[in-house]
Amino acid sequence: MSCIFCDILEGKRDGHILYDDESHVAFLDKYPIDVGHSLVIPRKHHERITDMDAEDVGHLFSIVPKIANAILTSTEADAFSLAQNNGRAAKQIVPHVHIHIIPRYNSKGTVWTKRQISSDAELMELSEKVRSLLI
Ligand SMILES: [Zn+2]
Repeated sequence: MSCIFCDILEGKRDGHILYDDESHVAFLDKYPIDVGHSLVIPRKHHERITDMDAEDVGHLFSIVPKIANAILTSTEADAFSLAQNNGRAAKQIVPHVHIHIIPRYNSKGTVWTKRQISSDAELMELSEKVRSLLI
């Protein structure tokens, strides 16, 4: 079965990569709820978090704070939300475990904005900024 995220990991599909280590990759969401919306994924394909070893789940979550900090610094967001959906009824669209990091902005209020389509140039600039903070 093909998986969009595995394709990004294998370089078959472009992704605006923010961070990677031997077990994880973080990249910008192509259809962000707000500027800086990013995904952190394990390299190993699992559909749900309940399919993973507890230790691997711990590792996955342990890298979220440093990535979130770099995103907040780069976007000047005021806050962020984390989301992790498992299964279609939970609105998991890509069946590869991922944690959403969604920056929130005081100026935009608390209502969830609709997903938007960012330009490649915009995503490129932001991903370079975040990546430079994570090196
Ligand atoms: Zn996958």
